[in-house]
Amino acid sequence: MKITFLGTGVAIPQPNRVQSGMIIEVDSKPILFDCGGGVLNRIFESNYDHTDIDTIVLSHLHLDHVADVLCLIKANWLCDKTDVTIYGPKGTQQWISGLLEIYDYMQGKVDISVTEVAAGEMFTPDGVSCKITCASGVHSVPSLGYRIESGGATVVYSGDTEPCDPIMNLCDDDGAGVDVLVHECSFPIGFEVTNHTTPDMLAGYMDEHGLKNTVDRLYLTHLYPHMQRHEGESVELLQQYFKGGARVASDLLEIEV
Ligand SMILES: [Zn+2]
Ligand SMILES: [Zn+2]
Repeated sequence: MKITFLGTGVAIPQPNRVQSGMIIEVDSKPILFDCGGGVLNRIFESNYDHTDIDTIVLSHLHLDHVADVLCLIKANWLCDKTDVTIYGPKGTQQWISGLLEIYDYMQGKVDISVTEVAAGEMFTPDGVSCKITCASGVHSVPSLGYRIESGGATVVYSGDTEPCDPIMNLCDDDGAGVDVLVHECSFPIGFEVTNHTTPDMLAGYMDEHGLKNTVDRLYLTHLYPHMQRHEGESVELLQQYFKGGARVASDLLEIEV
């Protein structure tokens, strides 16, 4: 698998980080996880063409994770690519139907298939041999995290959440651990917050549950502007829990898994 981080930021604008999104390439097929504002342009700047994308997996329906979904569908339609499958939590069908009621000139022009998924379920998008397992995060609205397994490699994406059992259990599903955990890290050490993660919250969780070395590499994403200039201390704190190290992701960073 290959991960391309497209957007590693949040709803508040900041330099060099657009809203949430990343591509996980499985069997040469790019699967887009979340598609917040700015992500469509990042796809253009990446090694992918937007018309290559016909599978989108949404963690939740907050704007910073979905704002560019319809923009991507429209861009593809204008380039004669009209089919897309969207996986997302309960409410995804109603959300997209509502958008198409407003932007009714797209009705009948695009072929959008929605599959709503729930915690504990597994699915495999068309055209790839992988297994994607869903788990619930702890967030202000229902949010899913995903474990993606293909060809002996495993990636877990937390979605928006505070460190919690269901998401971290995805990392320890079969006792074999995972290669890469992409975990949100909205705010710096010591910031008081619920429904999101700070480095010390994640470190505390790892300590409490004896999870050292369950995950090989950690990549932090979903950084609020508050995290600027705190990247170094965050990595330093979390480094010890991951044998492959901890890093802060950046827009357009590509990693092999
Ligand atoms: Zn959110
Ligand atoms: Zn978010």
